[in-house]
Amino acid sequence: MTVHVIGLTGGIASGKTTVARLLANRGAPVIDADVLARQVVEPGQPALAELVARFGAAILAPDGRLDRKRLGAIAFADPAARADLGRITHPRIAAASAAAIATWADAGANVVFYEAALLVENRAYSHLAGLIVVATPPEVQYARLVERDRLSPDDARARIAAQAPLADKLAAATWVIENTGDLAALEGEVARVAGAIEAAFGPIRVPRLPRAESAAGASARAGRIGRPATLVTGFPAGTAKRMIQQLLAAEPEPRLYVLVREALAADAASFLAELPDATQAELLVGDICDMDLGLSSAEYRGLSRELTWIHHLAGVYFMGTDEATAQRVNVVGTRTVIELARDAGRLERVVHWSTALVSGDRKGTFTEEDLEVGQKFHNAYERTKYDAERLVRAAMRQLPITVIRPGIIVGDSRTGEIDRLDGPYYLMVLIATNASGVRLPLLGRSNAPLHLVPIDYVVEAAWHVARHEASAGKTFHLVDPAPMSARAVFEAVAEHAHTEKPRGHIPRQLARAVLRTPGLSRLGRGPLAFVDMLDHTVHYDQTNTAAALAGTAVRCPPIADYLPVLVRYVVDLTRAAPPKPPEDVSDPLDEG
Ligand code: ATP
Repeated sequence: MTVHVIGLTGGIASGKTTVARLLANRGAPVIDADVLARQVVEPGQPALAELVARFGAAILAPDGRLDRKRLGAIAFADPAARADLGRITHPRIAAASAAAIATWADAGANVVFYEAALLVENRAYSHLAGLIVVATPPEVQYARLVERDRLSPDDARARIAAQAPLADKLAAATWVIENTGDLAALEGEVARVAGAIEAAFGPIRVPRLPRAESAAGASARAGRIGRPATLVTGFPAGTAKRMIQQLLAAEPEPRLYVLVREALAADAASFLAELPDATQAELLVGDICDMDLGLSSAEYRGLSRELTWIHHLAGVYFMGTDEATAQRVNVVGTRTVIELARDAGRLERVVHWSTALVSGDRKGTFTEEDLEVGQKFHNAYERTKYDAERLVRAAMRQLPITVIRPGIIVGDSRTGEIDRLDGPYYLMVLIATNASGVRLPLLGRSNAPLHLVPIDYVVEAAWHVARHEASAGKTFHLVDPAPMSARAVFEAVAEHAHTEKPRGHIPRQLARAVLRTPGLSRLGRGPLAFVDMLDHTVHYDQTNTAAALAGTAVRCPPIADYLPVLVRYVVDLTRAAPPKPPEDVSDPLDEG
């Protein structure tokens, strides 16, 4: 089977990388020549030794890596040095490119995109099956360059002027992608050109790379160099905090990056300062909802070069969340993280935190493989987590991703500690603090199992499960294998809190009305969203989890054992400070 290699080029900051990402999002194989160029001069590679022999150890940074700026200064001042630099690196980049193309071809690709800055200048495009040129007028290039790289106006102009003019590139183009508008316009352009390419070469196949081959550079053959580095998104959610603690305690070696929004940077800094081994952790101020995670270009590139693991916990977990926020954080945020994963040349694993509630209103058994089963959703939270998981599943064909689906997370089974009182806690608080002596009505029939799972089990199990070599490409339900019914849970809450047991049941419609009545209505959308879920009998199969945890002592504790601890915690907490009105709770503060 012939593989058609299509070049992708354009001027500096024209949008090549952005187009490459959009192509990769469609499942197309993309090779980034820049990634390969960096990999061939990593420490331990023969090219670096040759460069040191030719230019001296002064081209090395203190950590033994190539100081590209210093080498650039030497090479660009002296044509002979430039020729030697090319002689040493170009054949190796060519070999790595050929190897990457062969990897994709072996995996069944019919079309491979090859992104490189100078395909026209060095006439390399003439060997390719076609050339895409990203066309951006110099004034737009200039604005993006200043914005992205914080260049001075003079520097930005000099860099644009140093390249062949756009007209030369256009003359060599088979297809032109105009990038003068916004990202949506660019997506349209990419779709149009992808269509033209498919008309020429047939549908672009979405090959699946063997594990450990990176999609960004298809260059894992260049070897794993340097120590592992892990990114955690989702601070300040309780799960993210605990995963940070787990990683620092269990894996003291890796570098840990914690992505945090600016408004929470101080909180995150004091959280980290209190942890042992926190010197391994570094804050990155950004936002998963922004392009490149809101990081500077240098930070983003540095991160994508270094990163080996991503624990993506960021998301809106609040069930009563509004549609737009849930969409932005859960879906757009996940897409950004997938893009980072594609750009990460050394990526070993992405752990995506989903939820068992992607089952929506599905009844009966829901397996770890199930996702698109024609279910409907009770709220924006469920729907957007489902949409995010669909993106993740598509990306799983090329990236090593593990999906974690916990049930409804409640407090620590040993201490009761929880960072927010939402979901089942609305009712737990109502029942546990009901001093009125009135028997509160249970909402709906409440005979269905309530899939509660304690946070300590979830984080520990997720960590163990994800570590397995074989868990890439798999999904894991982290749920209680023997859940109690909602009714039994809330009756037990009353028992442990020594308050009146909830009485009878009232139909769901009426329950909704009750929650809208004055006094209770202040609880807002969260409880309503929760009540809607109480009547679905679904069983979450957890075959993958059971197999992955088989050799460990990690097990979900029986709820009867820890429910008293949860109730005690809630009672103590609400006694110390009455629950806040949920307008505060509904602040989408659980975004990362
Ligand atoms: P380089 O030549 O430096 O490798 P490049 O050609 O790969 O750059 P990108 O990094 O994709 O260019 O884009 C340059 C900057 O412009 C980036 O910050 C990117 O986010 C932004 N950008 C690209 N296209 C658009 C667009 N259509 N709308 C808004 N921003 C864009």
